[in-house]
Amino acid sequence: MRILPFGNANDSLQLQQSVLRRILREVWESETREPEKEKIEKGQGMGWKTVIKPEDSIFSELVRTLAGWKCVRCGRQHEIKQNTLDCSHYFGRNHKSVRFDLDNADALCRYPCHQGSDSTNPERFGWEYQKGIGGFKNWSADGEYTLYKKKQLGEQRFSALIIRSEGICKMTSFDIKELRKSLREMLQKAKGGIL
Ligand SMILES: [Zn+2]
Repeated sequence: MRILPFGNANDSLQLQQSVLRRILREVWESETREPEKEKIEKGQGMGWKTVIKPEDSIFSELVRTLAGWKCVRCGRQHEIKQNTLDCSHYFGRNHKSVRFDLDNADALCRYPCHQGSDSTNPERFGWEYQKGIGGFKNWSADGEYTLYKKKQLGEQRFSALIIRSEGICKMTSFDIKELRKSLREMLQKAKGGIL
């Protein structure tokens, strides 16, 4: 099961909406908007930082719940809701079209399995750095993470993920609200073991 990209800002249905309907929606949104709770996540020594939005936190909990709070790489069991287990994105969160795509996310121990930076020891070297030998620019061979994704998803589904990762995704505040609702519902199902 995966979530389809919510890139429907430009779909024909929305284009057909009247100005009046849009105004009504804006009024409705301004009355029902959730307070934003954001935090900044910094990659250890990776020179990036990402704004983590409420929908990211729900998605992360969903991915880790579906994995039974176990790392998919080493199998280590983590305590529920502990941040020792990460929600890793194969294509980083800046690829917005797959930011909430379950095929793109895996539960990994923060250290070493996800962000471990010891390149001299393959077991201590995180999958964040093991997508391709030579990195995306000088890719000479698949790295451990890519080999895992191909096995996990199969070549066809993996190729489909690559294509989706290149999609453009623009979300209106209405889309975000719907996304949060749908993720919360999925999380409840996952917690109840029915997803
Ligand atoms: Zn692990």
